[in-house]
Amino acid sequence: TKKVIFPIKKALDEINEIIGKQVFYSNINMTFNYLDGENLVVYGYENEFKQVLLNLINNAKNKIIENFAESQIKGNIIINISKFQNYNKIEIIDDGGKIDEKIISSIFEPYFTTKKDGTGIGLYMAKVIVEDKMQGFIKVNNVGNNVVFTIIVPYKKD
Ligand code: ADP
Ligand code: MG
Repeated sequence: TKKVIFPIKKALDEINEIIGKQVFYSNINMTFNYLDGENLVVYGYENEFKQVLLNLINNAKNKIIENFAESQIKGNIIINISKFQNYNKIEIIDDGGKIDEKIISSIFEPYFTTKKDGTGIGLYMAKVIVEDKMQGFIKVNNVGNNVVFTIIVPYKKD
């Protein structure tokens, strides 16, 4: 397949169609913030890009459900979309619990998982798609009590 230019908002709307209800009924508040308007685009592979974001949101959702189980606390997932130099930036932020600093540098490795039934494939694939296939960049940080995944992807061929 060939790389194409596609609107970020279209991809995120489709992701929300897939996972929005599950998130809502899990008592999680998910917010999309288009900080530089709703018209930003991505140059790359639309389906793979959607798969990456779906994986990240799923990871956040499942962690919140596990950590907030049997409590009435509402978790939050925030998705910020903005421009960044020659790229567009998507941040996926959750408040379901920080990543242990002892493992944070390992989580993109293939088969690395802390879950009983985990595969450890999701973040590895995310890195391959974003960095190797789409010439972007993905990273993770603990920021205060939040986990922040940052993805930058080009918006044009160069
Ligand atoms: P899996 O979901 O099968 O464990 P992933 O590659 O998606 O595989 O994630 C690898 C590991 O990274 C997880 O097992 C978890 O320890 C950590 N991780 C991923 N996303 C988050 C998150 N939002 N908050 C905390 N830890 C996370
Ligand atoms: Mg996963």
